[in-house]
Amino acid sequence: MTQPVAAQFDASALNVAKFGGTSVADFTAMQNCAKIVLNNPATRVVVVSAAAGVTNLLVELAHKAMTRDEINAVVDKIKQIELNILHALANPSAVEPKLNELFEQLEELAHHEEILHRPDLKDAILSLGERMSSLMFAEVLNQHGGKAENFDARNVLVTDNTFGEAVPQIATIAARCDKLLQPAMAQAIQVTQGFIGADEQGNTTTLGRGGSDYTAALLAEALNAQTYEIWTDVTGVYTTDPRITAAARPLAELSFEEAAEMATFGAKVLHPATMVPAVRKNIRVFVGSSKEPDKGGTWIARDCAHEPHYRAITRRKDQVMVTVKTPKMLYAPGFLQQVFGIIASHNLSVDLVTTSEIAVSMTIDNPPNSVRSKINQETLSELREICEVKVEEGFDLVTVVGNNMHSEAGVSSRIFNALREHNLRMICYGANPHNISFLVNASDSDNVVKALHRDLFES
Ligand code: ASP
Ligand code: MG
Repeated sequence: MTQPVAAQFDASALNVAKFGGTSVADFTAMQNCAKIVLNNPATRVVVVSAAAGVTNLLVELAHKAMTRDEINAVVDKIKQIELNILHALANPSAVEPKLNELFEQLEELAHHEEILHRPDLKDAILSLGERMSSLMFAEVLNQHGGKAENFDARNVLVTDNTFGEAVPQIATIAARCDKLLQPAMAQAIQVTQGFIGADEQGNTTTLGRGGSDYTAALLAEALNAQTYEIWTDVTGVYTTDPRITAAARPLAELSFEEAAEMATFGAKVLHPATMVPAVRKNIRVFVGSSKEPDKGGTWIARDCAHEPHYRAITRRKDQVMVTVKTPKMLYAPGFLQQVFGIIASHNLSVDLVTTSEIAVSMTIDNPPNSVRSKINQETLSELREICEVKVEEGFDLVTVVGNNMHSEAGVSSRIFNALREHNLRMICYGANPHNISFLVNASDSDNVVKALHRDLFES
């Protein structure tokens, strides 16, 4: 196997490596990761997700009313995933007592009377996936001849107490990393958990689904890492989701801005907040496949060799369009402020907005299986007190990401030409020159992406 990353960097420069759920799904997958870590002496901090599927099962336990038997069945599924890894270890007794402790916590929380009503308990149970996978992976590294320890991220990743979507406290994280993680790193490779943190009181919190990338980026920032690798199940970031079109191809490079737009507008390989710490500290980010590390991947950096008009097409599913309408809007400058105040008070984030004289339409994310706030009856009835409200579902948001998209003649017309046969419900130029978005019917979105890809990337 070649050394795709180690060869390019001074070994004294710190690298933070993050492995996603499929990369640590089982013992075999973990072995690939161990090789990647041990191949690069600069990697002293490893951040792991929960083994694939485990967080979804934990979300079920935290959010769904179930009978005792149903709960036990879900708990058993989780245990089985972990036990399969445990039994493949050369020295299972090194981690078995700790794993059993985590199993006990899992059972206790799963059957806790209050679990469905207490956000703090939900986060406590959600944290177990990462706590189990990091325990196992540290041992896999040891088994491969590394010197590794399991580090509890909650000692450094301090957040506020917005359970389910906790906000990291950057300065505190930096101070804690200096004090606790730096010295530990000097002794052994530290294998820690993505996605989880703790508030000032020590209550376990989580950063929102897919948050492990964000954790690793925050640690890379706090530790002044030179590089940050995201190891996943695809060989980098693609021109579009390869599941939509087989013509999608991997990108060698992306700028911070492009990557941030792609993450925001649905590229699953990147968590939307991930780029923020990397940009703040100018940390180069690598995305590659832990199954095929020698295939290379995508480098995300401040400056790119090329800045093409069209870099990629992303799609975000499960969009809801909310239209608010009032004849009063004509006269009331405070109306929009009121509308957005209500939306913000429910923690909903709006992506696209279009206005006419008496109506405003906006799109809101409504993903299933999310711990994020969703548009609900309460929000709607508050809005209905000040205006007419119409809610339409079944949309996807398709975004073209690139450079100088608004300024140069012909750049957007080529996009519109590619879409002339499709029904576009909303069109929105981004607030920056890196994107143009379209709201389309979910049933048509595959075709919209394919048509755009064909015209922009395959000719
Ligand atoms: N395990 C968490 C999730 O599935 C976090 C992550 O994988 O990034 O959402
Ligand atoms: Mg993930």
